[in-house]
Amino acid sequence: MTRQPNILVIIADQLAWRALPAYGNTIARTPNIDRIARKAVSFSECYTPCPLCQPARAAFWTSRYPHETGVLSNGRRHYVPTIPTTMSTLGELFRDAGYAATHFGKQHDAGSLRGFAIEPSGRLPVATEPAWPVNRDTLQDRYATVKTVNWLLSYGDDAPYITVADLQNPHDICWWVGENAGTHTDVPIDGPLPPLPGNFEDADLDQRPRPIQYICCSHNRLSQAAPWTEENYRHYLAAYYHYLARVDAEIGLILDALEAHGDAENTLIVFMADHGDGMASHRMVTKQVSFIEETTRVPFMVAGPSHLVTGHSTVAAPISLLDLVPTLCDLAGIQPASEFRGSSLRPWLEGTPSEAPHPYVASEWHTEWGFTISPGRMIRTPRYKYTRYLEGNGEELYDLVNDPGETRTLIHDLDHAAALATHRNLLAEHLLTTQDPFLSLSWEAAPRWRSHAPGYQNHRGPAAPMVGG
Ligand code: ZN
Repeated sequence: MTRQPNILVIIADQLAWRALPAYGNTIARTPNIDRIARKAVSFSECYTPCPLCQPARAAFWTSRYPHETGVLSNGRRHYVPTIPTTMSTLGELFRDAGYAATHFGKQHDAGSLRGFAIEPSGRLPVATEPAWPVNRDTLQDRYATVKTVNWLLSYGDDAPYITVADLQNPHDICWWVGENAGTHTDVPIDGPLPPLPGNFEDADLDQRPRPIQYICCSHNRLSQAAPWTEENYRHYLAAYYHYLARVDAEIGLILDALEAHGDAENTLIVFMADHGDGMASHRMVTKQVSFIEETTRVPFMVAGPSHLVTGHSTVAAPISLLDLVPTLCDLAGIQPASEFRGSSLRPWLEGTPSEAPHPYVASEWHTEWGFTISPGRMIRTPRYKYTRYLEGNGEELYDLVNDPGETRTLIHDLDHAAALATHRNLLAEHLLTTQDPFLSLSWEAAPRWRSHAPGYQNHRGPAAPMVGG
């Protein structure tokens, strides 16, 4: 019998799919992520179950939606439970199957890392540069990388392992935005500034749901960027690529250790991110409320032994991070009794079947910290993205084949009325089959946070979390 594969899961935090050369980006330099991509089946339409750290993580470690794990936020004023003990986690499933299961780096898991031996996180120093003086996540990545490398190099047991290197960058961009809040002069950088994306401005903001029109009021980072000039946004993109290069370098050290140890041939490598980043699309920085491609669509690559994963190829069909657990169980020959919302991507790793893995994938938004609450749902089919928010019964519909930048919502476009009806039905069906209480939830935003003319440019002063709601 073939020995079960070792599995190395490498996670980046806040990494949009479109930031990567592997998915067509021509500005970023990520030689080490490219090393994985060259051997991997890369999924180009992978979606997070929630564009926010903790709800996404609790969901993808269990293959259950946020409304099922109960982890809907990052905490503060909004209560975060530990995930139910009845829910199986990736760590438990592999530990119980005899794997050595170890986790390094960022946790933020609300109990969903159960089963892994969790190495406490720490910090190691790195040099600071004037244009990017913020290094909170970078210090932790240094530490997590050193720990992962040492562990990989010294592993000598007979049991197969599953090891997670849970890295945080380019998440340092969040703190960088805070450092550059409001009107400011940028620190010059070497070389050209990245251009603004084609979808920087939304011409039809008046037609978008109210929680989207007032994103700037919902979160400190977005209000901090509200008065930025185009030049400021371009420096933000330069900083984003800087933090991406930092995490890429750490990934290179981890890949080197894997190769040096000599068991790379029998090791599956998964590379993914928990959620993306606005990257100046729709004037968005960081992530929040909306389901735009940049914050919701993430990299997902699987490389591995040739009997499990075919060579370099791309699957362009919607999948979800909820597919992680069922896929890894399938590849390792583990047959869990648990119910998963995702499904195994094994057939697409072995070759490319003609049918798509899913008729649609879904994502959810609730709140980050409970200061504004904007329940929303996204349904993504091969051609369209449909969203629905409770506040004002707001909806969006985008034709991603003809409008990949989501520059025009088709919600009032009669030519797409049939697609709208189909997607409304898909959402209704999804709520029913996943027992999602979405329609009975409540939205919450004080009148103050809906008081200016819609749009970032009209925002003045703080956002709800900065004054406590
Ligand atoms: Zn505002």
